[in-house]
Amino acid sequence: MKGDYHIHTHLCGHARGSMKEYAEASIERGCSRIGFADHLPMLFRDDPSLSMSEDELPGYVDEVLGLRERYEKDLSVLLGIEADYHPSTIEKVAEMIDAYPFDYVIGSVHVLGDWLFDDPREIERYDDVDLNELYIDYFRTQESMVQTGLFDVVSHPDLVKKFNLRASIDLKPHYKDLLRKIKKAGMCYEINTAGLRWQVSEMYPEPDFVRLGAELGVPVTYGSDAHCPEDVGRDFDKALELMKTSGYLELAHFSQRILRLDPLPDSK
Ligand code: ZN
Ligand code: ZN
Ligand code: FE
Ligand code: FE
Repeated sequence: MKGDYHIHTHLCGHARGSMKEYAEASIERGCSRIGFADHLPMLFRDDPSLSMSEDELPGYVDEVLGLRERYEKDLSVLLGIEADYHPSTIEKVAEMIDAYPFDYVIGSVHVLGDWLFDDPREIERYDDVDLNELYIDYFRTQESMVQTGLFDVVSHPDLVKKFNLRASIDLKPHYKDLLRKIKKAGMCYEINTAGLRWQVSEMYPEPDFVRLGAELGVPVTYGSDAHCPEDVGRDFDKALELMKTSGYLELAHFSQRILRLDPLPDSK
């Protein structure tokens, strides 16, 4: 069964389209599951162009659950959320996650210190950092995220390459460290096709990571990270091909925060 588990909505302030439009796009593209995973309110910055506000969260949940009923016959609608990991907000994030019946929680590192390193508005700050150190810091931060036990999925595990500013060191030892922790935590990681739409022009994570993930037996899922209805299910043929050639036979998905494995769907 094909499904897209990483869908945003207009609520986050930097995406376009109603939930209904995403659901219709999903059906059109032959995805029989759709998982909304809009950004959980970002707490370290009060910026309506980054996420919904805390006041909007109950409405988000209600709308997804309403859609689930409405599409019962044609589409299985999952209630997910993409939560930022940042050490300063962890308690409040845990509270918000606990307050709603999420099917899964995607954990994402978008911020290091006070830097939104994946925000094009803050790209100049790359001039001031050592890329090797940045990548190491990023991967260690993801390890810390995994060890909180709060999340189900590690989103876009090498997002730090988004603008194609690359480290020169061998990253494979860091991939292995992270992958082992993901496995130990009973989580999975995500192949995210959005990287194909940015400067880096490749999926997150890169093939080496996926190969190591398969070798170590770490479950994998996928998502488009759609911020507009046209991007639902985008480039899933490529994601499935990468999983297959890396040695994966199964795809992870969630309901009620329990990881389930299905055989890999057809890449067509
Ligand atoms: Zn977003
Ligand atoms: Zn993200
Ligand atoms: Fe996302
Ligand atoms: Fe994201």
